[in-house]
Amino acid sequence: MLKLRWGSATDVGRVRQVNEDSLFCSDVLFAVADGMGGHAAGELASELATRAMAEYGESGPLDVDGLVAAIQHANDVIVQTGRQQPAYFGLGTTLTGVAVVNVAGAEHWAVFNVGDSRVYRYAEDRLSQLSVDHSAVQELIDAGVLDEAGARHHPQRNVVTRSLGTLPAPQADVEVYQPVVGERLLICSDGLTNELLDAEIGQVLQVEAEPERAAAELVRRANQSGGRDNTTVVVIELVGLD
Ligand code: MN
Repeated sequence: MLKLRWGSATDVGRVRQVNEDSLFCSDVLFAVADGMGGHAAGELASELATRAMAEYGESGPLDVDGLVAAIQHANDVIVQTGRQQPAYFGLGTTLTGVAVVNVAGAEHWAVFNVGDSRVYRYAEDRLSQLSVDHSAVQELIDAGVLDEAGARHHPQRNVVTRSLGTLPAPQADVEVYQPVVGERLLICSDGLTNELLDAEIGQVLQVEAEPERAAAELVRRANQSGGRDNTTVVVIELVGLD
C-alpha cells in the first residue's frame, strides 16, 4: 500500500462571485474540476464530476480501465444533466487528478487529465508538469508559434479544447508512473498557474513540507497575485511503501 498524506485548499479568489472549482480526495483518488458555463452551470458541472469520481474512489484501488470508465461515467452524468435541465445548457468542466491503480500486481500512480487543470511532480527540488493542457494556447505552443511567456497573456488563454460534458465523450489522457518515496504530486486549477510561475510554485513546495500548509500557501499567493479566478490546490506526498 502507498502511505500517503495530503492537503488541499480552494478559494473563490478576489474577482469572481462563485467558486466553480470542486475537489475530491480519498486514499486512492484525488481530483480537481474547474467548471464552466453560465447560470451556475459551472459550479454544478465540477461538482457532478468530482461526485462521480468519488463513487469510483470509494470502491478502493482499481485499474486503468476502471479509471477511464469512471471518467466516461462522469461525462455521461454531466451530458444527461445538461439535457434534462435547459437552464444548465452548455455546462462543462475540466477533470484532472491522480488515482492509485493496480498495474501488474503493484500500485502505481495514474495521472489523468481532460482540460487545462494540471498535475505536477515535485521531487529532488525540481518541479515538472506531468499533464499536458488541452487548450488553444497549448496547440499553438506545440505548433511552435507561441512560447510559455506569450501563452500567459494570449487572448485565447482560457479556451479549452477538451472538457467533460461533451459528445462524443472527450478522450482523457492517462499516464501511469512508478511511485517514488518522498515525491509530492500537485493538482491545481488554472487559477493557480495563471497567477504563479512554475518557479514560484516550486519554491513554495520547497519551503512548505507539510501538504496542507503548502496547499494553503499556494492559494494565498494566487490571491495575492491578483486572484482573478477560483484557485484549487491538492498536494499529495508519498510518505512510504508498506
Ligand atoms: Mn479556472
